[in-house]
Amino acid sequence: MTWYGPSRAAWLDGCMTDWSILTDACGSAEHVPGLLDRFEADPSGVWSELMDHLCPQLDTAFSASFAAFPRLAEIATVGSPETLDWVLLAAGAIASCSPALSDSNSPLTVFSAPIAALHELTDRRLSRTAAAEDYVNLLQALLSFEGVEIWDRSLDGLQSGEYEVGCPCCGVNVFVVIGQDDSFCCTDDYALSEVQKSPLQPARVHELAELPRRLFTRATADGQGNVAHGVRYLFGQAACPDCGTDFSVAERVVAGWIL
Ligand SMILES: [Zn+2]
Repeated sequence: MTWYGPSRAAWLDGCMTDWSILTDACGSAEHVPGLLDRFEADPSGVWSELMDHLCPQLDTAFSASFAAFPRLAEIATVGSPETLDWVLLAAGAIASCSPALSDSNSPLTVFSAPIAALHELTDRRLSRTAAAEDYVNLLQALLSFEGVEIWDRSLDGLQSGEYEVGCPCCGVNVFVVIGQDDSFCCTDDYALSEVQKSPLQPARVHELAELPRRLFTRATADGQGNVAHGVRYLFGQAACPDCGTDFSVAERVVAGWIL
């Protein structure tokens, strides 16, 4: 995650944003207001172009990216449910690139009002979203707006059913497979052949605390049983198929980001 930002003053210089002193992935951000207008008119059609400028690869943001939060919040507030999904995806990706809340110049603090509006819209939209992929994307956006790090980008495996982590002892690459019928880990490509599987131990519900507990409770309340099921495995224990070492799946997911 990278961001390129100016001082806080450049964002808050008077009441109007001076886009000419901000930058996006291509240089001067003067064109960004026009790009946001076009995005509002055709969210699905312009989304890729918007991300190319404001959040390329969904992992890099610029001073203009954060300055777009107020406008994105406006578009989200007045848009149709479909528009809302595109806006929340864009704003969530940008927010996930923000410096941590512990940084006094964090854009999440500087733009706290639009971020709060985007968070509330995401919160409401989650309860009305059925498809697991959309649900997980929104859940990550919700965490991005709260400044939760790592997990705002690491929940995809709850819908794809797979995480890839390194064994903390022997370093081998381990596939953690979370299925509805069968959950296990292995070191070979399980899609192509019979593989040696080692067991996964899901966390017991009463053992889940803080963020995992919240994710489990939320997904259950929203009727996302498969996601809730996955949370127990993600925050459960695995055993390395090669060396037999027990490890926490979640700790290894986090380690993958820190290395
Ligand atoms: Zn191992």
